[in-house]
Amino acid sequence: MKALVYNGPRDVSVSEVPDARIERPNDVLVRITATNICGSDLHMYEGRTDFEQGRIFGHENVGEVVEVGPGIEKVQVGDMVSAPFNVSCGHCSNCEHGLTNYCLNANTDGVAGGAYGFADMGGWAGGQAELLRIPWGDFQALRLPDDATEKQNDYVMLSDIFPTGWHAVEMSGFKPGETIVIYGAGPVGLMAALSATVRGAAKVMVVDRHPDRLRLAEQIGAIAIDDSKGDPVEQVMQHTKGVGADRGAECVGYQAHDPQGHEDNADTLNKLVASVRFTGGIGTVGVFVPQDPGAPDELAQQGKARFDFGNFWFKGQQMGCGQAPIKRYNRQLRDLIAADKVKPSWIVSHNLPLEQAPEAYKHFDAREAGWTKVVLNPT
Ligand code: NAD
Ligand code: ZN
Repeated sequence: MKALVYNGPRDVSVSEVPDARIERPNDVLVRITATNICGSDLHMYEGRTDFEQGRIFGHENVGEVVEVGPGIEKVQVGDMVSAPFNVSCGHCSNCEHGLTNYCLNANTDGVAGGAYGFADMGGWAGGQAELLRIPWGDFQALRLPDDATEKQNDYVMLSDIFPTGWHAVEMSGFKPGETIVIYGAGPVGLMAALSATVRGAAKVMVVDRHPDRLRLAEQIGAIAIDDSKGDPVEQVMQHTKGVGADRGAECVGYQAHDPQGHEDNADTLNKLVASVRFTGGIGTVGVFVPQDPGAPDELAQQGKARFDFGNFWFKGQQMGCGQAPIKRYNRQLRDLIAADKVKPSWIVSHNLPLEQAPEAYKHFDAREAGWTKVVLNPT
């Protein structure tokens, strides 16, 4: 089959690899019809992780079931399904408590949590390919309704960024009628803005410096805060009568390699603490762990963040962080899409065949204007 494989930093190609196939009785084999490029792929693409040469990227996957193992009872050949990016078994003690983001059977060596096409997340092959093997298929594959093909660009956001944005808002302790500031108008930040809007925010503020991304935030009624035009904390204060936002979401993560990005690895997190009111809450989904040997900051070289805990403590805030547990939300969010209550596809900038993925990675990695979210359509 054809698949997008990693060759080295900023070097990917579409290559012929052995077909994905059923390996265990509870596997489901899917023909991939849509698979996204994600900001999380860039940690590996830019060479900040131990991603092996020849491995396949892709953790935001939708496809048609073409074969099921003998142990599968629910999923059927012909079903259109969404695969959560977290690989999870459904029966370990973490999964039993809904913590599928920290499944104990999807990884090895005492590390909890698996993901497709990720470094240090269990070694599972990704879905930027013609075929994908979904382990524990009955538990993992979310069946999509009859409009799956028509609304594919919406449903493909269910594997990761829509539930992840929702989770950022959830972890902040957000309640209807509150204000929220979101750092990052990338795909994840825009999904957090959409989630807060759907959940009844009185005011949603989104901070970034890319005009095209800020415009997408404005399209759903958010206030765009351009941090290239002035201190974002001061701008948030102006919009909140000097008090700060009730809640905040960190949707940036470590970005030192962004040509327009920041140098300090916890820059956004510290600004977020300053932008949120005393006793407010923060949800952090941006990823801070990839080690960056080329970073000017010694801590960033070790994959650690320089977090201003003093101000966070002084303000008595709360914070949640980590991988999002996609299965906690994907069923309900699927049904919101099916009922035409939300349209996460408004951020999609490109639908491209797999062959054009290497080019797409270059544009998305450079945060080029107009390259907000790329959906690849391998078959
Ligand atoms: P992205 O890199 O496209 O978007 C990040 C945005 O942040 C960019 O638009 C950039 O201009 C902006 N930015 C950079 N520095 C900033 C600053 N100081 N203040 C405000 N904005 C700033 O990536 P994405 O796909 O939106 O993903 C964002 C982060 O979320 C990444 O770290 C990704 O790995 C992570 N992520 C986490 C999970 C999870 O489960 N926790 C899931 C998906 C993605
Ligand atoms: Zn992703």
